[in-house]
Amino acid sequence: MNIDQLRQRFPNEQACRSFFESVMWQKGRYCPHCRAEKSWLLKGSSARSGLYQCSQCGRQFTVTTKTPMHSTKLPLWKWLLAMYYMVNSSKGVSSVFLARWVGISQKSAWKLGHAIRQMMAPDSRLLPALSGIVELDEKYIGGKPRFENGITHKRGKGTKKQ
Ligand SMILES: [Zn+2]
Repeated sequence: MNIDQLRQRFPNEQACRSFFESVMWQKGRYCPHCRAEKSWLLKGSSARSGLYQCSQCGRQFTVTTKTPMHSTKLPLWKWLLAMYYMVNSSKGVSSVFLARWVGISQKSAWKLGHAIRQMMAPDSRLLPALSGIVELDEKYIGGKPRFENGITHKRGKGTKKQ
């Protein structure tokens, strides 16, 4: 997906929120405070969008409650954008570049990067284990070829490595 396609797929905050909700609550919405599975959406002008109330403990939550994204004042779109850059860069993204690309301060970018790496940890709820067809970038396996006088070993696509 390129950046234009990303923007089309997520034209507004609601689209981003729906996406995060579908990933976080794949088996149904639950309260991050008490894990109860019954809750309702709070509506009305005073309610923030995506705010739910738990029917068991009565506390309120959104999809980001108790995740590293919690208490951020950044729009969900910026989180999504930062995640997009981070997962699409095989060498990692510095907070300097992240700040520039996402349009936030470098301090925010540093925090964002840290939180995203935390959410990408193997036991994270946000990014579940891969399943189905998984594609990897190409990778050549094997050490440095033995030195043979006059022979130049090809690198990259021309290599004889597996
Ligand atoms: Zn609860």
